[in-house]
Amino acid sequence: MSITINEHRQKITQAKRIVIKIGTSSLLYPNGKINLEAIDELAFVLTDLENQGKEVLLVSSGAIGAGLHKLQLPTRPTSIPEQQAVAAVGQAELMNIYNQRFVTYGQNIAQVLLTRDVIEYPESRQNVVNTLEQLLKMHIIPIVNENDTVAVDELDHETKFGDNDQLSAIVALLVKADVLIMLSDIDGFYDANPNKNPHATLFREVHEINPQLMEVAGGSGSRFGTGGMRSKLEAAQRLMKKHQSMVLARGKHPRIIKKILTGEAIGTLFTEK
Ligand code: ADP
Repeated sequence: MSITINEHRQKITQAKRIVIKIGTSSLLYPNGKINLEAIDELAFVLTDLENQGKEVLLVSSGAIGAGLHKLQLPTRPTSIPEQQAVAAVGQAELMNIYNQRFVTYGQNIAQVLLTRDVIEYPESRQNVVNTLEQLLKMHIIPIVNENDTVAVDELDHETKFGDNDQLSAIVALLVKADVLIMLSDIDGFYDANPNKNPHATLFREVHEINPQLMEVAGGSGSRFGTGGMRSKLEAAQRLMKKHQSMVLARGKHPRIIKKILTGEAIGTLFTEK
C-alpha cells in the first residue's frame, strides 16, 4: 500500500533535528541591499524552534552579496582573489547582521566555515561532526557556510563543495538531520521553469530523481545564486540515497518554515516512497 502525501508530511512534523538552507536571493533584495525583514524573521523562527526543543542548523549563503553591498561594488569582480576578498568582508558583515538579529531573541549562534577537503578527510570530518554536535548540545545555532575565502577548484586540490545546496545536503548528512528545508526564490520544483513557462505545475512530492526530472530543472536563474534547480535536485538525491528528506520552498518569508513543520503541503517534498 502506498503512503499518501499527508503521511509523508506527517513525518516532517516529528522532525527534531532540522537543517535550513537559505539562498542569497532570500537574504538580499534584487538591488543588492540587505533584506533585514527576511533575516529578522529567520532569526525569530529559528530561535522559536530552538525554544520548542528542536535542534536547528542554518546553512547560509550571502557572503559575496553582503560584501558587494558593504564595499559598494555594483557587480561581482571577476578575479578569484578579488571575489575571495569580497567574501571575506561579506562573511563578517553577514555574521554581524545575524548576530544582531539573534541577540534580540536571546539566541546564541556560531560560525562554522567548511571546505570540501575537510569533509573528505575522515579525521577532520569527525571533528566537524563533533563540533556541530557540541554546539547543538549547548543550544547554539551553527551558521554554516563554505569558507569562500580559501576554497578554490584546482585540478590537484579541490576544496569547493560546488555550491551551498550541496553543502547543506552534506551538513544534513553529517548530523543525520530529520529534514533539510531548502529556501529558494521559487515555490518549489515545477515540471518546467515557471519563470519561462507560466503553465508550469508544482511537484508536491518527488520520490526519485531521474534524468527526465534533471532535464526540466534547467540552469541557474538568479543574479547571485550559483546553484540553480539542478543543484537542488542533486542535493535532494544525496539525501534520499541515505533515506533522508528535503523540502524545497520559497524563502522570502521564513515563517514558512513553521508551516512546513506543521505538515502543511507547502513546496516540494523530496522523500523516499
Ligand atoms: P536560490 O539562489 O534561491 O537558491 P537558484 O537561482 O539557485 O535559487 O534556483 C532557483 C531558480 O531555478 C528559479 O528561480 C528558476 O528560475 C530556476 N528553475 C529552473 N528550472 C526550474 C524548475 N523546473 N522549477 C523551479 N525552478 C526552476
